Amino acid sequence: MPSATLGHLTSRDDVETSSRSFADLTTLRVGGAPAHTLCCRSADAVAEVVRSLDEAGVPLLVVGGGSNLVVGEDVAGLVAVVLESEGKDGTDVAIDAASGVVRAFAGVVWDDLVAATVDAGLGGLECLSGIPGSVGATPVQNVGAYGAEVSQTLHRVQLFDRSTGETSWVSPESLELGYRYSNLKFTSRAVVTAVEFSLSTDGLSAPLRFGELARRLGVTEQDGTSRRPASEVRDMVLELRRGKGMVLDDADHDTWSAGSFFTNPVVDAATADEVQRLVASSRGEQDAAAMPRFPAGDAAGEKMEKLSAAWLIERAGFARGWHVPGSERAGLSSKHTLALTNRGQASSADIVELARAVRDGVREAFGVTLVPEPVWIGVTLDPE
Ligand SMILES: Cc1cc2nc3c(=O)[nH]c(=O)nc-3n(C[C@H](O)[C@H](O)[C@H](O)COP(=O)(O)OP(=O)(O)OC[C@H]3O[C@@H](n4cnc5c(N)ncnc54)[C@H](O)[C@@H]3O)c2cc1C
Repeated sequence: MPSATLGHLTSRDDVETSSRSFADLTTLRVGGAPAHTLCCRSADAVAEVVRSLDEAGVPLLVVGGGSNLVVGEDVAGLVAVVLESEGKDGTDVAIDAASGVVRAFAGVVWDDLVAATVDAGLGGLECLSGIPGSVGATPVQNVGAYGAEVSQTLHRVQLFDRSTGETSWVSPESLELGYRYSNLKFTSRAVVTAVEFSLSTDGLSAPLRFGELARRLGVTEQDGTSRRPASEVRDMVLELRRGKGMVLDDADHDTWSAGSFFTNPVVDAATADEVQRLVASSRGEQDAAAMPRFPAGDAAGEKMEKLSAAWLIERAGFARGWHVPGSERAGLSSKHTLALTNRGQASSADIVELARAVRDGVREAFGVTLVPEPVWIGVTLDPE
C-alpha cells in the first residue's frame, strides 16, 4: 500500500494500526499475517479506509470478531480492516426503550448489544445470546440460533457500497436474507457500518420455537407461540450454549472454532428419502426412522427438506473428538460434532484436512455434500 495512503488513514483518531495476524484475529486462531491491520472505530473511519484502499487497488478483508473465517497462512498481500468499538461511553449504541428501536455501530461486540437490550427490557435478540462476533456481521450471514434469526428483528442496515463509495440505509428485504445467507455474504460488495433493530417493548422474548429451549424453560405448549421474560431466555440460551462449547472461552479448546462448520443440507424430498434408505442399510431401520428432516420450503417447484449436518456426521462414523489419524492438532469438538476445533497448535492446513475428511466421509456414506458455513480466505477445500 502506498505509504502516503497509510499515513493519511492512520492520522485519524478513530483508525489505528496493529500487528495482529489472523491467528490473533480469528476464533479458529489460524492464519498468517496480513500486510497491515487497520482497526476502525467509527462508521466514517470504515468508509474512508475502505474507499481509500479500493481507490489504491489494495486487496482488503473486512473483519469483525473473526468467528466465521478460515484464513490461510499466505495472506501477506491483504490488508485486514478490523471493525472495533471502543465501547467506553456507550456512543456506539443508541437504545430507545420506549419505541424498541436500537441502533449500533457495526464494530460493537454482538453479545454486548444483546445483553444491553435485555437489560433495557427489550425482547427479540435473546435467543441469539452468546453468538461471537460483531453487530455488523450479523446480517451478512443472517445469524441464527435456538429458533431465531436476526432477520426477524432487523429494521434497517447501513451499508458502505464499495462500487459507488456511498453510505446509505437499506431495507432488510434488499439483502435477500435466507438460511445463513444474504447477498452480502461471499460478495464483499458492501460493508455494513451500522445496524438498526426493532425490538418488543414488553420485556418478553420472541416466541419460543426451539424444542429443547422451550422444554428447559418449562413451556408445555407445543405450538411455538409461548414467550418468556427475555432475561430468563438469555440465561438459558447461554447455559445451553456453554454446554456445547458454543460460547468463546480461551481456556476451552472446544471453543477455538468457527462455530457450526457446515450448514444443514437442504435437499429435495427424493434425496432425503435416499439418505434415509442409506442410513437404514448401514445403521438399521430404527436409526433411520429417527433421522431429522424438516420442511424447508420450495425451490424450482420442488418441496425441499432440511437435514441435520451434525446427525449425518455422527452416522457417517465421526464421533465427538475425532481427528484425522496421526494429526491431533485439529479435531472435532469433544462436545459437538459440528464444530471443527484447533486443539492448540493447529495450522490452517490442519483445519482444511479435517474439514475435507468430514465432508468426504459424509458424501461417501450418504451422497450428501456438506457445505462449509465460514468464509474461506487464502485456502480452499478443493485445490485445483
Ligand atoms: C463458538 C462459536 C459459536 C457460533 N455460533 C453461531 C450461531 O449460533 N449462529 C450463527 O449464525 N453463527 C454462529 N457462529 C458463527 C459466527 O459467530 C457468526 O457468523 C458471526 O456473525 C460472525 O461475526 P464476526 O464479526 O466474527 O465475522 P467475521 O468472522 O469477522 O467475518 C465473517 C464474514 O463477514 C464479513 N464481514 C464481517 N463484518 C462485516 C461487515 N461489517 N460488513 C460486511 N462484511 C462483514 C467478513 O469479511 C467475512 O467475510 C459461531 C462461531 C463460533 C466461533
